[in-house]
Amino acid sequence: MRTRNKAGLALVVLCGFLVFSLFIFVRAIFGFDSLQNLNFTSILYLLGKLTGLAGFLFLSFLIFSGDTARFFDRFFGMDKIIKFQRKFALFTMIFVLAHPIFFALSSKSILPYVIPDFSVMPLALGAISLYIFIIVMIASKIYKRISYNLWQYIHLLTYLLFFFSLYHAVNWGSDYRLISVKIIYGIILISLLAGIIYRTFYKIKQKYAGKFYVQEIKNETENTFTLVLKSEKAFSFKAGQFCFLRLNKGKFYARHPFTISSSPKEARLRFTVKLEGRFTKALSELKKGEEVIIDGPFGIFTIEDEQKNLVFIAGGVGIAPFMSMIKDKTIADNQSQNIILLYGSKTKEDIIYRERLDNIKKDCFKKVYILSDSRSFLKADEYETGHINEEIIRKYVKNINNSLFYICGPESMKNNLKGTLNKLGVNKHNIIIEDFFW
Ligand SMILES: Cc1cc2nc3c(=O)[nH]c(=O)nc-3n(C[C@H](O)[C@H](O)[C@H](O)COP(=O)(O)OP(=O)(O)OC[C@H]3O[C@@H](n4cnc5c(N)ncnc54)[C@H](O)[C@@H]3O)c2cc1C
Repeated sequence: MRTRNKAGLALVVLCGFLVFSLFIFVRAIFGFDSLQNLNFTSILYLLGKLTGLAGFLFLSFLIFSGDTARFFDRFFGMDKIIKFQRKFALFTMIFVLAHPIFFALSSKSILPYVIPDFSVMPLALGAISLYIFIIVMIASKIYKRISYNLWQYIHLLTYLLFFFSLYHAVNWGSDYRLISVKIIYGIILISLLAGIIYRTFYKIKQKYAGKFYVQEIKNETENTFTLVLKSEKAFSFKAGQFCFLRLNKGKFYARHPFTISSSPKEARLRFTVKLEGRFTKALSELKKGEEVIIDGPFGIFTIEDEQKNLVFIAGGVGIAPFMSMIKDKTIADNQSQNIILLYGSKTKEDIIYRERLDNIKKDCFKKVYILSDSRSFLKADEYETGHINEEIIRKYVKNINNSLFYICGPESMKNNLKGTLNKLGVNKHNIIIEDFFW
């Protein structure tokens, strides 16, 4: 089954369970409470119950999706899962916070919901869950500013949050009487436990497999460099995939994602990095022999189709995945898939891998450099100038309908090009985009 079909199936199963559970919860709530005699207070009470059940369901899904992200990477891509999680966490927060607010409004008393009363344990654990949730949310906002170890400990709190919330829901929620609600809680519990086991095994495996050592740091342009890593163990990946890098230093360094720019056939692992902030600066200052911990490979920004022409559209350091793909494809003697690289950078000095790209002499590979800095236009005979646009695509891409368009570059470039390609009639399934957000 192709990745897209598998992703579709996985999505249907996951969303199907969420929708089905919500349906059961709505039925449970509106089944037990008489809908006649509804007044403002009872509506607030019902909303409190509904937001509580939905909040618990979404929270469990959030924890489950985090624990199994490495498994579901093959269907959706880890980067897309992380983006989804960040948005979904905010959505979940609305329900989790609304739950005590509705109850407090309905009972006109706020204290039992904010000050844990340990003589009523299920209610007290509900209030504590709320505080843990707030701590985890704040930590995930400032995640880049805290150490990886601290983040790991805070992550452990999410399990406490889950079990406290489950205890609260089972022992305090009136809907637990229903068998259908019990079954949903059972499925959630089993899924969460499976997720925890999966994550634990993955972490143990990764502890031994993820150690790499700096072999070289090579400056590419004024603000980019390539980190060359070696390891005694083999590391397999597909061209276009990325890894999380972590530094084995006791400082405040979280993990950060970087795309592998070497080809899967090379002995060394390379990452081409643009200096952006604290982590990339720390990477640039690594010394030969220092340890870098690698978690990966992840992502589905890879070539699955061997027939269509490939159009790689890169901006700046967005060339990294394409370098891996181009090396991988052009190394093979029997390569018949045509590749055209449209590579946008500010000036010719900013072109990363210029020499290596110029040295690839294969009929199947063509490249065009597009310079955007108007000061370089005068001496730019051998380049296109301005931004990659409809005119440039029409000029260089001969068979638009039989081409796959891969895009990796700045946000504005991606958004503009998406519109341009839509205008050119490119099927959205033939546009594959990588996002260097973080
Ligand atoms: C799937 C994926 C693959 C990636 N592959 C690559 C790759 O191959 N090469 C690469 O170079 N990058 C890549 N990235 C991006 C890379 O992960 C980030 O650039 C990097 O993690 C930034 O970390 P940092 O600590 O150095 O910068 P940060 O400090 O996190 O800064 C990042 C950005 O935020 C801005 N910023 C920081 N602090 C502030 C502030 N206080 N106010 C306003 N703006 C601020 C910075 O100017 C910068 O633009 C990839 C990202 C993803 C998701």
